[in-house]
Amino acid sequence: MSNESLANLLKEERRFAPPAELAANANVTAEAYERAKADRLGFWAEQARRLSWETEPTEALDWSNPPFAKWFKDGRLNVAYNCVDRHVEAGLGDRVAIHFEGEPGDTRAITYADLRREVSKAANALIELGVQTGDRVAIYMPMIPETVVAMLACARIGAPHSLVFGGFSSDALATRIQDADARVVITADGGYRRGKPSALKPAVDEALTQPGTEKVRNVLVVRRTGEETAWTEGRDVWWHELVDRQSEEHTPQAFEAEHPLFILYTSGTTGKPKGILHTSGGYLTQAAYTHHAVFDLKPETDVYWCTADVGWVTGHSYIVYGPLANGATQVIYEGTPDTPHKGRWWEIVEKYKVTILYTAPTAIRTCMKWGDDIPAKFDLSSLRVLGSVGEPINPEAWVWYRHNIGGDRTPVVDTWWQTETGAIMISPLPGVTEAKPGSAQVPLPGISATVVDDEANEVPNGSGGYLVLTEPWPSMLRTIWGDDQRYLDTYWSRFQNRYFAGDGAKKDEDGDIWLLGRVDDVMLVSGHNISTTEVESALVSHPKVAEAAVVGATDPQTTQAICAFVILRGSAAEDEGLVEELRAHVAKHLGPIAKPKRILPVDELPKTRSGKIMRRLLRDVAENRDLGDVTTLTDSTVMTLIQSKLPGAASSED
Ligand code: ATP
Ligand code: MG
Repeated sequence: MSNESLANLLKEERRFAPPAELAANANVTAEAYERAKADRLGFWAEQARRLSWETEPTEALDWSNPPFAKWFKDGRLNVAYNCVDRHVEAGLGDRVAIHFEGEPGDTRAITYADLRREVSKAANALIELGVQTGDRVAIYMPMIPETVVAMLACARIGAPHSLVFGGFSSDALATRIQDADARVVITADGGYRRGKPSALKPAVDEALTQPGTEKVRNVLVVRRTGEETAWTEGRDVWWHELVDRQSEEHTPQAFEAEHPLFILYTSGTTGKPKGILHTSGGYLTQAAYTHHAVFDLKPETDVYWCTADVGWVTGHSYIVYGPLANGATQVIYEGTPDTPHKGRWWEIVEKYKVTILYTAPTAIRTCMKWGDDIPAKFDLSSLRVLGSVGEPINPEAWVWYRHNIGGDRTPVVDTWWQTETGAIMISPLPGVTEAKPGSAQVPLPGISATVVDDEANEVPNGSGGYLVLTEPWPSMLRTIWGDDQRYLDTYWSRFQNRYFAGDGAKKDEDGDIWLLGRVDDVMLVSGHNISTTEVESALVSHPKVAEAAVVGATDPQTTQAICAFVILRGSAAEDEGLVEELRAHVAKHLGPIAKPKRILPVDELPKTRSGKIMRRLLRDVAENRDLGDVTTLTDSTVMTLIQSKLPGAASSED
């Protein structure tokens, strides 16, 4: 898309300086960029000292066999010890680690001392089940404290975990169990969603009937809902029977920094999920550092809340490993934002006096759709930093978030990263960066990223291309589980010696980075490359639109034609002239070439469980094709609803 269009999106020149008080007391200041630039590996070696090592590493990076990195390779540590025990040993045993809020309203406050006991018992239980260092454990759980305990227990004994979203089907679970060759599955009878118990164990039972899952010896089951649960004697074990009777003592053993910590399958927005492998020392270093830097965490006073599901990477790095390594106090909420009412999240912020909130654009746009009056009913004045992750955040949604949730006080940090990168890579720093709504802006200290053209040349400011990472980073994926070749092909073959992220991006006149969506989603209209993100942001900037998804559908005249699916804001009606009005609005913002050919108001969009719009399914719909793989979709009935709206729907031709 032309530079003009970006300039258009930016034309209001909205800039937000960091609040003075935050800037004055910020954990990280502008000096960190310089220091990291002067000595990148020295900078990361210094960050590694945030952790407690049994054996300190003497070298930061071994890049002798690229792209297979080894970080801090002669160092030894235990990840669970770093997240739990060391805080207790430092006298912080009484600090609350987790304020748990169940969907039905039950609550638990779990201190670091409690967490140490629970994790030790769970580690002993896994050992009793015969789990050995290196064995894989699949975890298929709701958002309850035992999920965190289970992950840390695995980390403690060096058994890599593989979390599978609680919303996935038994088939998706079976594929992941097979691929990781898991020996034990940890699950629950169910969890609460939308006011009702929602069973999980039946999907595990079903998955374990499939070939390739025979090596699963045991299923460890947490009782959460108390619903009737089918039982396989000899295989199934209740958590409260096995874990509760274990000793509270377990001495953590140190592992090599490169010991595998977890496998996590990407959310599958673009196709077959990849089993991303993360290891221990480098991963924990960057998760801890970025959580400290990007959220300005003050563990003594902050109450942090990340609304992500623990089953995706944000939950791994910014519910479990980063915050706990930093000794944070955090909120974990089990349920959906609208149960029992649409103000539930804001009620939780008010109740726990949450100071840092980290969520996804999809959630913010949903709240916009529900209306400003809902958050306005609650006292959100405790908030001081807001974060966003998962998709590009439209400038309109960014401004809405800062205004309606942040009371026009708080910085908003738009954090770009991926399952593969393990931790945040590109983001403003809340006490340093003058924020631009809609832009992730700058690589963090110690991170090297840029935008290149087809020939791998760095593009000048004001131009777009492909986002690449130019130097290895501590929390980078080490490979795709069991498939080194796919690791090389997917990330390292497009450009020599550079990691290709798969995302389009552009640099503005100041050199700040704007993410433009996946390269696979970029549209080609009459010879022009048009980014889905920019058209979506233009639509969302219209007062009647809460959310938009844009795809390019094959078109005989223009190669691709822009097709937009929009969700209207709470009060907006779907009247006659609306579609025309929206088309004109986009043309005004981005130029006539970006004017959507069709606009279809819908009630919901197809999303992954992590809240990302699955544009490839919308493309299938727009081109009247059978739907591709829908296994990672939250709710497959959404597609039927959208398809049923299609014939003769609000389309218009030029
Ligand atoms: P798959 O790789 O299987 O298709 P996925 O890419 O959706 O799935 P994730 O690793 O969860 O799986 O998502 C990372 C992607 O999310 C990034 O590559 C980018 O496209 C998008 N993303 C995440 N954060 C941001 C952000 N702040 N701004 C723009 N895009 C973002
Ligand atoms: Mg991806």
